[in-house]
Amino acid sequence: MKKTQPPKNKLAYERKNFWKDAPVAEQKVALEFATAYKAFLNTAKTEREVADWMEKLLRKHKFVDIHGQKGAQKVYGVFRGKTLAVAILGSEPLNNGFNMVASHIDSPRVDLKQNPLYQDGPSQMACMRTHYYGGIKKYQWVSTPLALHGVIVKNDGSLLKISLGEKEDEPVFIIPDLLPHLARKEQFAKNLNDAIDASKLNLVFSGMVDPAAEEKEAGKAYALKVLNEKFGICEADFLSAELQLVPAIKARDAGIDNSMVVGYGQDDRICAYTALTALLDNRDLKPKRTMIVYFSDKEEVGSQGATGAQSIFIQDFVSDLMAYKGEDNSSANLRKSFINAKILSGDVAAAIDPNYPGVHEKENAVLFNYGVGISKFTGSGGKYGCNDADAEFTAYVQKLFTQAGVFWQIGELGKVDEGGGGTIAYLLANLGAQVIDCGVGVMGMHSLYELCSKADLYSTYKGYKAFLAGK
Ligand code: MN
Ligand code: MN
Repeated sequence: MKKTQPPKNKLAYERKNFWKDAPVAEQKVALEFATAYKAFLNTAKTEREVADWMEKLLRKHKFVDIHGQKGAQKVYGVFRGKTLAVAILGSEPLNNGFNMVASHIDSPRVDLKQNPLYQDGPSQMACMRTHYYGGIKKYQWVSTPLALHGVIVKNDGSLLKISLGEKEDEPVFIIPDLLPHLARKEQFAKNLNDAIDASKLNLVFSGMVDPAAEEKEAGKAYALKVLNEKFGICEADFLSAELQLVPAIKARDAGIDNSMVVGYGQDDRICAYTALTALLDNRDLKPKRTMIVYFSDKEEVGSQGATGAQSIFIQDFVSDLMAYKGEDNSSANLRKSFINAKILSGDVAAAIDPNYPGVHEKENAVLFNYGVGISKFTGSGGKYGCNDADAEFTAYVQKLFTQAGVFWQIGELGKVDEGGGGTIAYLLANLGAQVIDCGVGVMGMHSLYELCSKADLYSTYKGYKAFLAGK
Protein backbone atom coordinates (compact mmCIF):
# COMPACT_ATOMS: atom_id res chain seq x y z
CA MET A 1 0.00 0.00 0.00
CA LYS A 2 1.25 3.46 -0.89
CA LYS A 3 2.08 5.63 2.10
CA THR A 4 0.54 9.06 2.07
CA GLN A 5 1.58 12.04 4.16
CA PRO A 6 -1.22 13.31 6.36
CA PRO A 7 -2.59 16.51 4.80
CA LYS A 8 -1.16 19.69 6.32
CA ASN A 9 -3.55 21.84 8.26
CA LYS A 10 -3.53 25.01 6.20
CA LEU A 11 -5.01 26.95 9.08
CA ALA A 12 -2.20 26.10 11.46
CA TYR A 13 1.13 27.93 11.83
CA GLU A 14 4.35 26.02 11.42
CA ARG A 15 7.84 27.51 11.19
CA LYS A 16 10.13 26.33 8.43
CA ASN A 17 13.57 24.74 8.65
CA PHE A 18 16.04 26.48 6.36
CA TRP A 19 17.93 23.30 5.50
CA LYS A 20 14.71 21.56 4.54
CA ASP A 21 12.76 24.28 2.79
CA ALA A 22 15.25 26.79 1.36
CA PRO A 23 16.38 26.31 -2.25
CA VAL A 24 19.68 24.43 -2.45
CA ALA A 25 21.35 27.36 -4.21
CA GLU A 26 20.40 29.65 -1.34
CA GLN A 27 21.67 27.14 1.21
CA LYS A 28 25.04 27.35 -0.55
CA VAL A 29 24.97 31.13 -0.36
CA ALA A 30 24.22 30.88 3.36
CA LEU A 31 27.22 28.60 3.95
CA GLU A 32 29.45 30.95 1.94
CA PHE A 33 28.20 34.01 3.82
CA ALA A 34 29.81 32.78 7.02
CA THR A 35 33.38 32.92 5.64
CA ALA A 36 33.74 36.69 5.72
CA TYR A 37 31.80 36.79 8.99
CA LYS A 38 34.37 34.57 10.71
CA ALA A 39 37.18 36.78 9.40
CA PHE A 40 35.40 39.80 10.89
CA LEU A 41 35.04 38.12 14.30
CA ASN A 42 38.75 37.34 14.27
CA THR A 43 39.80 40.87 13.35
CA ALA A 44 37.48 42.92 15.54
CA LYS A 45 37.22 41.78 19.15
CA THR A 46 36.55 45.07 20.97
CA GLU A 47 34.16 47.92 20.29
CA ARG A 48 37.03 50.15 19.16
CA GLU A 49 38.31 47.47 16.80
CA VAL A 50 34.82 46.99 15.35
CA ALA A 51 34.48 50.76 14.81
CA ASP A 52 37.91 50.88 13.10
CA TRP A 53 37.11 47.83 10.95
CA MET A 54 33.78 49.26 9.88
CA GLU A 55 35.14 52.72 9.09
CA LYS A 56 37.81 51.20 6.86
CA LEU A 57 35.22 49.15 4.98
CA LEU A 58 32.90 52.14 4.64
CA ARG A 59 35.65 54.27 3.13
CA LYS A 60 36.39 51.48 0.69
CA HIS A 61 32.75 51.66 -0.40
CA LYS A 62 32.96 55.45 -0.79
CA PHE A 63 30.96 56.37 2.31
CA VAL A 64 32.06 59.77 3.60
CA ASP A 65 32.33 61.21 7.09
CA ILE A 66 29.24 63.30 7.74
CA HIS A 67 31.40 66.16 8.94
CA GLY A 68 33.58 66.03 5.83
CA GLN A 69 32.69 66.15 2.16
CA LYS A 70 29.28 67.62 1.28
CA GLY A 71 26.69 66.32 -1.16
CA ALA A 72 27.24 62.58 -0.78
CA GLN A 73 24.41 60.06 -0.49
CA LYS A 74 26.30 57.60 1.70
CA VAL A 75 27.58 58.96 5.01
CA TYR A 76 28.71 57.82 8.44
CA GLY A 77 29.70 59.23 11.81
CA VAL A 78 32.01 57.70 14.41
CA PHE A 79 31.82 58.97 17.99
CA ARG A 80 34.72 58.61 20.45
CA GLY A 81 35.96 55.63 18.46
CA LYS A 82 33.43 53.30 20.07
CA THR A 83 30.04 53.89 18.49
CA LEU A 84 28.99 54.72 14.97
CA ALA A 85 26.07 55.18 12.64
CA VAL A 86 25.91 54.85 8.87
CA ALA A 87 23.26 56.08 6.46
CA ILE A 88 22.22 55.91 2.85
CA LEU A 89 20.13 59.00 2.33
CA GLY A 90 16.64 58.66 0.94
CA SER A 91 14.69 61.02 -1.33
CA GLU A 92 11.97 61.67 1.26
CA PRO A 93 12.56 64.16 4.06
CA LEU A 94 13.77 62.57 7.29
CA ASN A 95 10.80 63.82 9.29
CA ASN A 96 8.78 61.18 7.40
CA GLY A 97 10.87 58.67 9.31
CA PHE A 98 13.72 56.33 8.45
CA ASN A 99 14.47 52.61 8.53
CA MET A 100 17.10 51.60 11.06
CA VAL A 101 18.79 48.48 12.36
CA ALA A 102 20.38 49.09 15.76
CA SER A 103 22.83 46.67 17.34
CA HIS A 104 25.71 46.84 19.83
CA ILE A 105 29.41 46.22 19.37
CA ASP A 106 30.61 45.70 22.94
CA SER A 107 30.80 42.18 24.38
CA PRO A 108 31.31 40.74 27.85
CA ARG A 109 35.00 40.49 28.73
CA VAL A 110 37.54 40.92 31.51
CA ASP A 111 39.15 44.36 31.82
CA LEU A 112 42.43 45.17 33.52
CA LYS A 113 42.09 47.42 36.56
CA GLN A 114 43.53 50.94 36.38
CA ASN A 115 46.39 49.96 38.65
CA PRO A 116 46.74 46.35 37.56
CA LEU A 117 50.33 45.24 38.08
CA TYR A 118 51.53 43.61 41.31
CA GLN A 119 54.06 41.07 42.44
CA ASP A 120 52.87 37.86 44.00
CA GLY A 121 54.72 37.36 47.30
CA PRO A 122 55.65 33.67 47.35
CA SER A 123 56.38 33.21 43.64
CA GLN A 124 57.75 36.69 42.81
CA MET A 125 55.72 36.50 39.60
CA ALA A 126 54.11 39.58 38.13
CA CYS A 127 50.30 39.44 38.06
CA MET A 128 47.50 41.72 36.85
CA ARG A 129 44.30 42.59 38.69
CA THR A 130 41.07 42.57 36.68
CA HIS A 131 37.48 43.79 36.81
CA TYR A 132 35.06 41.98 34.55
CA TYR A 133 32.71 43.78 32.14
CA GLY A 134 29.15 42.61 31.54
CA GLY A 135 27.35 39.43 32.49
CA ILE A 136 30.02 36.77 32.50
CA LYS A 137 30.09 33.39 34.21
CA LYS A 138 33.45 33.79 35.92
CA TYR A 139 34.37 30.12 35.81
CA GLN A 140 34.48 30.26 32.00
CA TRP A 141 37.33 32.77 31.99
CA VAL A 142 39.86 30.73 33.96
CA SER A 143 42.37 28.33 32.44
CA THR A 144 41.67 29.55 28.94
CA PRO A 145 44.02 31.49 26.64
CA LEU A 146 43.33 35.22 26.66
CA ALA A 147 44.56 38.02 24.41
CA LEU A 148 45.17 41.57 25.56
CA HIS A 149 43.49 44.31 23.51
CA GLY A 150 43.02 48.00 24.09
CA VAL A 151 44.56 51.43 24.07
CA ILE A 152 47.12 53.28 26.15
CA VAL A 153 47.53 57.04 26.06
CA LYS A 154 51.26 57.60 26.31
CA ASN A 155 53.01 60.41 28.09
CA ASP A 156 53.44 62.32 24.83
CA GLY A 157 49.67 62.15 24.21
CA SER A 158 49.87 59.57 21.46
CA LEU A 159 47.44 56.66 21.42
CA LEU A 160 48.98 53.22 21.45
CA LYS A 161 46.74 50.43 20.16
CA ILE A 162 47.47 47.05 21.71
CA SER A 163 46.61 43.61 20.37
CA LEU A 164 48.68 40.86 21.89
CA GLY A 165 47.97 37.16 21.81
CA GLU A 166 46.13 36.81 18.51
CA LYS A 167 49.05 35.82 16.28
CA GLU A 168 50.60 32.35 16.51
CA ASP A 169 53.99 33.69 17.63
CA GLU A 170 52.57 36.00 20.29
CA PRO A 171 52.17 34.97 23.92
CA VAL A 172 48.71 34.55 25.45
CA PHE A 173 47.66 35.14 29.04
CA ILE A 174 46.04 32.85 31.59
CA ILE A 175 44.00 33.23 34.75
CA PRO A 176 44.78 29.81 36.24
CA ASP A 177 41.93 27.83 37.77
CA LEU A 178 42.34 25.88 40.99
CA LEU A 179 43.18 22.21 40.58
CA PRO A 180 40.23 19.90 41.42
CA HIS A 181 42.39 18.04 43.96
CA LEU A 182 42.37 21.05 46.26
CA ALA A 183 39.07 22.64 45.31
CA ARG A 184 36.80 20.83 47.78
CA LYS A 185 36.34 23.70 50.26
CA GLU A 186 37.45 26.59 48.10
CA GLN A 187 35.11 25.87 45.16
CA PHE A 188 33.06 22.65 45.23
CA ALA A 189 31.23 23.51 48.41
CA LYS A 190 30.04 26.85 46.99
CA ASN A 191 27.39 27.65 44.41
CA LEU A 192 28.49 28.17 40.84
CA ASN A 193 28.38 31.94 40.94
CA ASP A 194 30.44 32.22 44.14
CA ALA A 195 32.89 29.41 43.38
CA ILE A 196 35.27 31.83 41.72
CA ASP A 197 35.57 35.10 43.56
CA ALA A 198 36.11 38.16 41.35
CA SER A 199 39.24 38.96 43.38
CA LYS A 200 40.72 35.66 42.19
CA LEU A 201 40.50 36.57 38.51
CA ASN A 202 44.09 37.78 38.50
CA LEU A 203 46.21 37.22 35.46
CA VAL A 204 49.60 35.54 35.60
CA PHE A 205 51.51 38.13 33.59
CA SER A 206 55.20 37.20 33.69
CA GLY A 207 57.61 34.91 35.48
CA MET A 208 61.17 36.23 35.20
CA VAL A 209 62.90 38.45 37.74
CA ASP A 210 65.21 41.43 37.44
CA PRO A 211 68.39 40.36 39.29
CA ALA A 212 69.31 43.99 39.90
CA ALA A 213 66.07 44.76 41.74
CA GLU A 214 65.10 44.06 45.34
CA GLU A 215 63.49 40.65 45.84
CA LYS A 216 60.05 41.99 46.71
CA GLU A 217 59.99 43.97 43.47
CA ALA A 218 62.12 41.82 41.18
CA GLY A 219 59.24 40.16 39.32
CA LYS A 220 57.29 43.36 38.84
CA ALA A 221 60.47 45.22 37.85
CA TYR A 222 61.13 42.66 35.16
CA ALA A 223 57.59 42.90 33.81
CA LEU A 224 57.88 46.69 33.65
CA LYS A 225 61.18 46.38 31.81
CA VAL A 226 59.61 44.13 29.17
CA LEU A 227 56.61 46.43 28.84
CA ASN A 228 58.90 49.39 28.37
CA GLU A 229 60.95 47.60 25.72
CA LYS A 230 57.89 46.35 23.85
CA PHE A 231 55.62 49.39 24.05
CA GLY A 232 57.68 52.25 25.47
CA ILE A 233 55.37 52.57 28.49
CA CYS A 234 55.83 52.80 32.23
CA GLU A 235 53.54 51.77 35.10
CA ALA A 236 51.78 55.15 35.34
CA ASP A 237 50.54 54.72 31.76
CA PHE A 238 48.22 51.95 32.94
CA LEU A 239 46.30 54.38 35.14
CA SER A 240 44.44 55.86 32.17
CA ALA A 241 44.51 52.87 29.83
CA GLU A 242 41.64 50.76 28.53
CA LEU A 243 42.88 47.20 28.39
CA GLN A 244 40.61 44.26 27.81
CA LEU A 245 41.16 40.53 27.95
CA VAL A 246 39.26 38.57 25.33
CA PRO A 247 39.46 34.90 24.33
CA ALA A 248 42.55 34.29 22.19
CA ILE A 249 40.58 31.89 20.04
CA LYS A 250 39.59 32.01 16.42
CA ALA A 251 36.04 31.80 15.16
CA ARG A 252 35.60 28.63 13.17
CA ASP A 253 33.09 26.24 11.68
CA ALA A 254 31.33 23.90 14.05
CA GLY A 255 29.46 20.65 13.47
CA ILE A 256 30.24 17.69 11.22
CA ASP A 257 28.20 19.40 8.49
CA ASN A 258 29.98 22.74 8.97
CA SER A 259 26.55 24.32 9.43
CA MET A 260 27.44 26.42 12.47
CA VAL A 261 29.94 29.05 13.58
CA VAL A 262 31.54 29.06 17.02
CA GLY A 263 33.34 32.16 18.20
CA TYR A 264 33.62 34.91 20.79
CA GLY A 265 31.62 38.13 20.76
CA GLN A 266 28.77 37.03 18.52
CA ASP A 267 26.55 38.86 21.02
CA ASP A 268 26.17 41.20 19.34
CA ARG A 269 28.65 41.39 16.51
CA ILE A 270 26.56 38.90 14.57
CA CYS A 271 23.78 41.48 14.31
CA ALA A 272 26.26 44.31 13.78
CA TYR A 273 27.93 42.44 10.93
CA THR A 274 24.68 41.39 9.25
CA ALA A 275 23.29 44.93 9.58
CA LEU A 276 26.34 46.57 8.02
CA THR A 277 26.54 43.98 5.26
CA ALA A 278 22.82 44.44 4.54
CA LEU A 279 23.25 48.20 4.24
CA LEU A 280 26.32 47.88 2.02
CA ASP A 281 24.47 45.47 -0.26
CA ASN A 282 21.68 48.06 -0.57
CA ARG A 283 24.17 50.73 -1.62
CA ASP A 284 23.00 50.94 -5.23
CA LEU A 285 19.36 51.50 -4.30
CA LYS A 286 17.86 54.92 -4.57
CA PRO A 287 15.67 54.62 -1.47
CA LYS A 288 12.75 56.82 -0.51
CA ARG A 289 13.29 56.37 3.21
CA THR A 290 16.76 56.94 4.60
CA MET A 291 18.43 53.69 5.68
CA ILE A 292 20.47 53.81 8.88
CA VAL A 293 22.51 51.24 10.77
CA TYR A 294 23.50 52.17 14.31
CA PHE A 295 26.16 50.43 16.38
CA SER A 296 26.08 51.24 20.06
CA ASP A 297 28.51 50.57 22.91
CA LYS A 298 28.02 49.75 26.61
CA GLU A 299 24.91 47.59 26.05
CA GLU A 300 26.36 44.88 28.25
CA VAL A 301 26.54 47.26 31.20
CA GLY A 302 23.28 49.16 30.70
CA SER A 303 23.84 51.39 27.66
CA GLN A 304 24.81 54.41 29.77
CA GLY A 305 27.42 56.98 29.02
CA ALA A 306 28.47 58.95 25.98
CA THR A 307 28.76 55.93 23.70
CA GLY A 308 25.84 53.85 25.00
CA ALA A 309 22.43 53.83 23.36
CA GLN A 310 21.11 56.19 26.05
CA SER A 311 23.48 58.89 24.85
CA ILE A 312 22.57 61.80 22.60
CA PHE A 313 24.76 60.45 19.80
CA ILE A 314 22.13 58.75 17.64
CA GLN A 315 19.77 61.73 17.82
CA ASP A 316 22.63 64.02 17.01
CA PHE A 317 23.55 61.85 14.04
CA VAL A 318 20.00 62.02 12.61
CA SER A 319 19.99 65.77 13.23
CA ASP A 320 23.26 65.97 11.29
CA LEU A 321 21.68 63.94 8.49
CA MET A 322 18.86 66.49 8.27
CA ALA A 323 21.31 69.35 8.11
CA TYR A 324 23.40 67.45 5.57
CA LYS A 325 20.33 67.09 3.33
CA GLY A 326 19.44 70.74 3.81
CA GLU A 327 16.34 69.94 5.87
CA ASP A 328 15.12 71.72 8.98
CA ASN A 329 16.78 70.02 11.93
CA SER A 330 14.90 71.81 14.66
CA SER A 331 14.14 69.83 17.77
CA ALA A 332 10.48 69.40 16.73
CA ASN A 333 11.42 68.11 13.31
CA LEU A 334 14.03 65.75 14.75
CA ARG A 335 11.43 64.32 17.13
CA LYS A 336 9.12 63.70 14.15
CA SER A 337 11.84 61.75 12.39
CA PHE A 338 12.11 59.35 15.35
CA ILE A 339 8.35 59.14 15.87
CA ASN A 340 7.97 58.09 12.24
CA ALA A 341 10.97 55.76 12.28
CA LYS A 342 10.84 52.00 11.86
CA ILE A 343 13.58 50.28 13.85
CA LEU A 344 14.80 46.73 14.27
CA SER A 345 16.71 46.27 17.51
CA GLY A 346 19.27 43.77 16.28
CA ASP A 347 20.39 41.68 19.20
CA VAL A 348 20.93 37.99 19.74
CA ALA A 349 18.18 35.76 21.05
CA ALA A 350 18.55 32.69 23.27
CA ALA A 351 18.13 29.61 21.10
CA ILE A 352 16.96 26.35 22.62
CA ASP A 353 20.00 24.42 23.85
CA PRO A 354 19.51 20.62 23.69
CA ASN A 355 21.02 20.36 27.18
CA TYR A 356 18.68 22.90 28.75
CA PRO A 357 15.33 22.82 26.92
CA GLY A 358 13.59 23.30 30.25
CA VAL A 359 14.36 27.01 30.55
CA HIS A 360 12.36 27.72 27.40
CA GLU A 361 8.79 27.21 26.33
CA LYS A 362 9.51 25.61 23.03
CA GLU A 363 6.64 26.97 20.94
CA ASN A 364 7.74 30.52 21.74
CA ALA A 365 11.51 30.12 21.72
CA VAL A 366 14.00 30.41 18.88
CA LEU A 367 15.33 27.21 17.34
CA PHE A 368 18.56 26.91 15.34
CA ASN A 369 18.04 26.79 11.56
CA TYR A 370 14.53 28.25 11.49
CA GLY A 371 15.70 31.75 10.59
CA VAL A 372 15.93 35.17 12.18
CA GLY A 373 14.19 35.49 15.54
CA ILE A 374 11.59 38.19 16.12
CA SER A 375 10.88 39.05 19.76
CA LYS A 376 7.81 41.20 20.25
CA PHE A 377 8.98 41.85 23.79
CA THR A 378 11.86 41.01 26.14
CA GLY A 379 12.02 41.91 29.84
CA SER A 380 11.64 39.70 32.90
CA GLY A 381 9.12 38.85 35.60
CA GLY A 382 5.97 39.65 33.64
CA LYS A 383 7.54 41.62 30.77
CA TYR A 384 8.99 44.05 33.32
CA GLY A 385 11.30 46.59 31.68
CA CYS A 386 10.45 45.47 28.19
CA ASN A 387 9.84 47.14 24.89
CA ASP A 388 6.61 45.62 23.64
CA ALA A 389 6.25 46.23 19.91
CA ASP A 390 2.68 46.87 18.85
CA ALA A 391 0.70 44.35 16.81
CA GLU A 392 0.70 46.62 13.76
CA PHE A 393 4.48 46.91 13.57
CA THR A 394 5.01 43.25 14.45
CA ALA A 395 2.69 42.27 11.59
CA TYR A 396 4.46 44.72 9.26
CA VAL A 397 7.86 43.15 9.90
CA GLN A 398 6.58 39.58 9.65
CA LYS A 399 4.79 40.29 6.36
CA LEU A 400 7.83 42.08 4.93
CA PHE A 401 10.05 39.10 5.77
CA THR A 402 7.60 36.58 4.32
CA GLN A 403 7.32 38.57 1.09
CA ALA A 404 11.11 38.79 0.84
CA GLY A 405 11.47 35.02 1.30
CA VAL A 406 13.21 35.41 4.66
CA PHE A 407 13.06 32.48 7.07
CA TRP A 408 11.86 33.90 10.37
CA GLN A 409 10.42 32.72 13.66
CA ILE A 410 9.20 34.29 16.84
CA GLY A 411 11.14 33.96 20.04
CA GLU A 412 10.90 35.08 23.62
CA LEU A 413 13.92 35.03 25.90
CA GLY A 414 12.89 32.12 28.10
CA LYS A 415 10.08 30.60 30.10
CA VAL A 416 7.97 33.14 31.97
CA ASP A 417 9.64 33.87 35.34
CA GLU A 418 12.73 31.85 34.40
CA GLY A 419 14.97 34.93 34.20
CA GLY A 420 15.11 37.54 31.50
CA GLY A 421 16.98 40.43 30.04
CA GLY A 422 16.72 43.37 27.73
CA THR A 423 18.17 45.08 24.72
CA ILE A 424 18.46 48.67 23.50
CA ALA A 425 14.98 48.40 21.92
CA TYR A 426 13.19 50.35 24.64
CA LEU A 427 15.69 53.22 24.51
CA LEU A 428 14.85 53.91 20.88
CA ALA A 429 11.17 53.25 21.49
CA ASN A 430 11.31 55.93 24.21
CA LEU A 431 11.90 58.39 21.36
CA GLY A 432 8.56 57.40 19.89
CA ALA A 433 9.83 55.03 17.22
CA GLN A 434 8.30 51.70 16.28
CA VAL A 435 10.87 49.19 17.48
CA ILE A 436 10.99 45.42 17.60
CA ASP A 437 13.75 43.01 18.63
CA CYS A 438 15.01 40.96 15.74
CA GLY A 439 18.22 38.95 15.66
CA VAL A 440 20.04 35.64 15.59
CA GLY A 441 19.43 32.87 18.08
CA VAL A 442 22.68 31.73 19.71
CA MET A 443 23.63 29.00 22.16
CA GLY A 444 26.07 29.65 24.97
CA MET A 445 25.38 33.40 24.93
CA HIS A 446 28.02 35.43 26.84
CA SER A 447 30.40 32.46 26.87
CA LEU A 448 33.79 32.37 25.19
CA TYR A 449 32.42 30.06 22.54
CA GLU A 450 29.07 31.32 21.37
CA LEU A 451 27.42 29.14 18.76
CA CYS A 452 25.18 30.15 15.87
CA SER A 453 23.65 28.53 12.82
CA LYS A 454 24.77 29.70 9.39
CA ALA A 455 21.14 29.46 8.26
CA ASP A 456 20.10 32.00 10.90
CA LEU A 457 23.14 34.21 10.27
CA TYR A 458 22.22 34.43 6.59
CA SER A 459 18.48 34.79 7.25
CA THR A 460 19.17 37.72 9.56
CA TYR A 461 21.26 39.44 6.90
CA LYS A 462 18.49 38.88 4.36
CA GLY A 463 15.85 40.14 6.75
CA TYR A 464 17.79 43.31 7.62
CA LYS A 465 18.41 43.98 3.94
CA ALA A 466 14.71 43.79 3.12
CA PHE A 467 13.74 45.85 6.16
CA LEU A 468 16.21 48.67 5.41
CA ALA A 469 14.86 48.93 1.88
CA GLY A 470 11.22 48.95 3.08
CA LYS A 471 8.91 51.71 1.86
MN1 MN B 1 23.31 41.67 23.10
MN1 MN C 1 24.64 40.42 25.91
